[in-house]
Amino acid sequence: MINIILLGPPGAGKGTQAQRLVEAHGMVQLSTGDMLREAKDSGTEMGNRVAEVMARGELVTDEIVIGLIEEKLTGDNGGGFIFDGFPRTLAQADALGALMAKTGKTLDAVIELQVDDAVLVDRIVGRAEQARAAGQPVRADDNAESLKQRLMEYYKKTSPLIGYYYAKGDLRSVNGLGEIEAVAAEIAAVLPQPEPTS
Ligand code: AMP
Repeated sequence: MINIILLGPPGAGKGTQAQRLVEAHGMVQLSTGDMLREAKDSGTEMGNRVAEVMARGELVTDEIVIGLIEEKLTGDNGGGFIFDGFPRTLAQADALGALMAKTGKTLDAVIELQVDDAVLVDRIVGRAEQARAAGQPVRADDNAESLKQRLMEYYKKTSPLIGYYYAKGDLRSVNGLGEIEAVAAEIAAVLPQPEPTS
């Protein structure tokens, strides 16, 4: 069982690659973005509170997302957890480390998906256009204004995690610019091998 973080800016392909790892290794995807959208769609008090913040492309409070992750860590972890879109701040990274230690788990690798900003904008605009063409709901934050804000939040608050995990010896950087298959192969090549269970 291995536990990993997928790190990268919005549109880097974290969700897509997480889904593939779920299928290939029976891992469990923990996406705080999905959890927050679920809370919003089901109209919980917390969901209502975060809806506007998310639509603007800002980060919701550390307290909320750490609480969401804490609830899931005691649940079924299948072939291991994939943290997707969490942590996004240094405080969240520290909290995750503490929660993992408390629950007797290890963080085995942090996989950084490296992409160009121009590609991110194209991908996100493309994601919104595809959803529109298919008659599916478009994410409230998949528009130019929110995207700019999401990128800014990433560079200001999340990108310091690259140095943080590098210093811990956990960082594995892969080129996230290729086709989905090619990126998946790069990830497979840097994924730590699970300890054999005896
Ligand atoms: P995502 O689906 O990962 O792109 O997340 C969508 C939005 O949810 C973000 O733009 C934030 O508003 C919020 N969000 C998701 N994960 C986090 C997190 N770890 N910390 C703070 N805000 C988050």
